[in-house]
Amino acid sequence: MKKVKVRFAPSPTGPLHIGGARSALFNYLFAKRYDGEMVLRIEDTDLERSRPEYEKEIIDSLRWLGISWTEGVDIGGDNGPYRQTERISVYREYVEKLLASGQAYECFCSEEELEKEREELLAKGEMVRYSGKCRYLTPEEREEKLKQGIKPAIRFKVPDNKVYVVNDLVRGKVAFETGNIGDFIIMKSDGIPTYNFAVVVDDALMGITHVIRAEEHLSNTPRQLMLYEALNFKVPEFAHISLILGSDRQKMSKRHGATSLIQYREKGYLPEAMYNFLALLGWSPEGEEEILTPEQINKSFSLDRVSKSPAVFDLDKLNHINQQH
Ligand code: GLU
Repeated sequence: MKKVKVRFAPSPTGPLHIGGARSALFNYLFAKRYDGEMVLRIEDTDLERSRPEYEKEIIDSLRWLGISWTEGVDIGGDNGPYRQTERISVYREYVEKLLASGQAYECFCSEEELEKEREELLAKGEMVRYSGKCRYLTPEEREEKLKQGIKPAIRFKVPDNKVYVVNDLVRGKVAFETGNIGDFIIMKSDGIPTYNFAVVVDDALMGITHVIRAEEHLSNTPRQLMLYEALNFKVPEFAHISLILGSDRQKMSKRHGATSLIQYREKGYLPEAMYNFLALLGWSPEGEEEILTPEQINKSFSLDRVSKSPAVFDLDKLNHINQQH
């Protein structure tokens, strides 16, 4: 088997959330278990919401928890650091490839035009997806738009009527039909790539073998598979880990109390206890024992024992674990 290489790819748009910390930990544990490597990549393409303070906070929180990485931010060297805003020219290069091979095209539609299209589709009770009209612009029409000073976004041409199957290591086989997916933007008119595009280029170029991330990204995976195919990149393995719910079985949010790791740190919880507690959010060790040291967890973690049902955040359990450590 090829050497395992995983990545944790947070967006620095807020402090490290419990869910993010759990994703980071599962990646770290998987890499440790297989003597692999872990990349830390800061996905800061949302220019308005990304902040260096959050990046710092995320890194501090990971360190506090005891997670380290072998490549990426703060490591430097030839392979890092990885911040997506510092890799714009790389994304541009791959956008150019797709444009040249006719698998992507320039889209000059304004927000208003797109909104109008959406409203018309909604009124007709049809599925909302981009019509693809800029696929068919004539060279003259294109010239005209450029002359008007309109900067195009770049859209990916979604293949017609294909089925993409994700062989998810946690969820099993999940199939998606392209019929429901409209041509999507891969680079905005300001030259900033969208999440789906940047993530595929990065995961491929960084040699990521296993993408372990939150379930909310499962619906993005078919778009990513199309891009892997179009760019002739090797597809990694995927593992989507379940949602974390509050004790009322609703998606965990601020209503349920502290949601970021730093809040638990400030309340005096021990990092080993958080490590133990987060590991059990979806993973169940063999045997009954729930109080485990990081070393015990590192030795026994496996994706086979990660559940696809939602994990429930139980504060009493955390307090119990914290007392025992
Ligand atoms: N930057 C994305 C996030 O924070 C990462 C998603 C992924 O792991 O692909 O949700």
